[in-house]
Amino acid sequence: MTDGAPAGPIEELLHEIWQEVAALDSGEVATYIPELAKADPATCGIGLATLDGRVYTAGDLVPFTIQSVSKPYVYALALADRGQDAVLAKVGAEPTGDPFNSISLDEHTGRAFNPMVNAGAIITSSLVAGSTRDEQFQRILAGLSAFAGRDLGVDESVYDSERRTGDRNRAIAYLMRSAGLLDEDVDAQCELYFRQCAVLVTARDLAVMAATLANGGLNPVTDVQVVPRDVVASVLTVMATCGMYDYAGEWLYRVGIPAKSGVSGGVSAALPGQLGLGLHSPLLDPRGNSVRGVAAADLLSKRLGLHLLLPSERSRNGLRRTYRADAVRSRRGRPRSHRDLLDAEAWQIVVHELVGDEGFASTEMLIRAVQDDPRPARWRVLDLRRVTRIDTAGVALLHSLVARLLAEDVAVCVVEPRLQLPKASLRDLPDAVHRFLDADSALEWCETQLLDGLGVTDDLLDGLVPLTQQELLEGLPEWAVAALEERLTTRVITAGAIVFDEGDPADGLYFVGAGQVASDIRIRNQAGRRRLSTIAAGSSFGELALVDGRTRSTRIVALEPTICYVLGPDEFAELRRRDPASAAELVLAISRMLSARLRSSTADVAAFEADG
Ligand code: GLU
Repeated sequence: MTDGAPAGPIEELLHEIWQEVAALDSGEVATYIPELAKADPATCGIGLATLDGRVYTAGDLVPFTIQSVSKPYVYALALADRGQDAVLAKVGAEPTGDPFNSISLDEHTGRAFNPMVNAGAIITSSLVAGSTRDEQFQRILAGLSAFAGRDLGVDESVYDSERRTGDRNRAIAYLMRSAGLLDEDVDAQCELYFRQCAVLVTARDLAVMAATLANGGLNPVTDVQVVPRDVVASVLTVMATCGMYDYAGEWLYRVGIPAKSGVSGGVSAALPGQLGLGLHSPLLDPRGNSVRGVAAADLLSKRLGLHLLLPSERSRNGLRRTYRADAVRSRRGRPRSHRDLLDAEAWQIVVHELVGDEGFASTEMLIRAVQDDPRPARWRVLDLRRVTRIDTAGVALLHSLVARLLAEDVAVCVVEPRLQLPKASLRDLPDAVHRFLDADSALEWCETQLLDGLGVTDDLLDGLVPLTQQELLEGLPEWAVAALEERLTTRVITAGAIVFDEGDPADGLYFVGAGQVASDIRIRNQAGRRRLSTIAAGSSFGELALVDGRTRSTRIVALEPTICYVLGPDEFAELRRRDPASAAELVLAISRMLSARLRSSTADVAAFEADG
């Protein structure tokens, strides 16, 4: 795009930067390869490729020879073809203060210093797969094309020009051969390297190539995995430390994006996990880098805060929210009675929702949320739907979290995302993990498990005694019952569980909605046997707690799955404050019941005495 209104904010930004840097006119076009001297010094192009394959450009997208910008990409191919050890045996990863075309090798290790200087690059090309030089070149051309996402060609005149004048590179190659790093045919080796340097690209291509590295070796435009993910970090490392000639340190300091530049004025810069940049303008500064390319990258990095070492904010947002199923229910329609039960008990189901990159930081947050949970859940749903990527740390820590939860008898549900998973993945989670495609299905499953576990049968729920039919509340005006109902919580008690124990603080008045409980006071009946005093649906217990607020005088045990409605002391106090008339009705009802009990026990005692 050279003129006209930019289509959107990104185009506008690139256009502005392009205008600013196009105005710079310092620097020289490289001439040591005679053909390069013909480059138009006014040319300036910018490309930016995202990791989902969108490419933005500004300025001139004229083809030029890739030159040294080919080095990291061919290094990636060599690593893919030979493995890291074989490559490192001949080419190190140490920055050098020497010029890129220095005729030297690392005397300490007997290797070329790094793959970004010519010595290392000539060896790197020789390591690419192929049984003849021609096959090796085809591999290089196909590899560079795959990085760019289109078929690239070669500028034969630049190739010829360099071949005719490239004695310095031959000298380097001879030195490498004398050190045992190259085989016999030095000329052929150099020609392979010259051809690689003469491959034609545009600023757009350099952006897509960089985005492929930034994207773990997967070309975001074509979706082709060009090199394995695990070679990418090695490539980006040498770009970061050695990619910009003798400006590498300051480039990393100022711009902070791993990059490689070349004598024809190209720069390809890869910001891992974010974007690829391609820049082209032939005027070079004294260190051999494109004047406008460096300036454009610097502006873009500053405006967008792209520096690699700028601590990322993203990691803090990994755990988006944690909620319990008593607050967020599944969409499954359930009868009112089931809903009441879930209101009361579904706090035991906890959902952790994660977003974005799942790495160390967000997984650690999840682990902490689980560990510090004051109410230990029996079901945990790990909702990874919004996780876009999960790295090695994320996988390792999730595995151990899941193993611990399972060992503690917590049911673990994983909501599966569509992840671009690394090798070690969530697929190897233990079979005991329940997998779901969405959080709603996971919630529904947990709810059903919870209801089943409570022994809640439909019969039990069908027989639920409503509040209006509770013995204690008989004869109370409707408005008083309604006021009470608003303040009740539902408690589900499994068979055999202790509802409360002797000496417990008084936690309220209980209405039995369904099921049956028994007080543990055993009364000697006439045959001399002890029996339990049972309290069935429709009856209430624990009312003294509201009256005197003292601790419990007896233990109450559920004889079968039981559902109670509970009025706590705080709710009772609030009822008295807010609705004294309803509270008075309740107190009267309790008094009536207590006096009825008193009369009957007086009658019992009288009968007992008469019998005695
Ligand atoms: N073909 C060029 C050479 O080896 C590339 C140099 C460069 O771009 O740094 O001299």
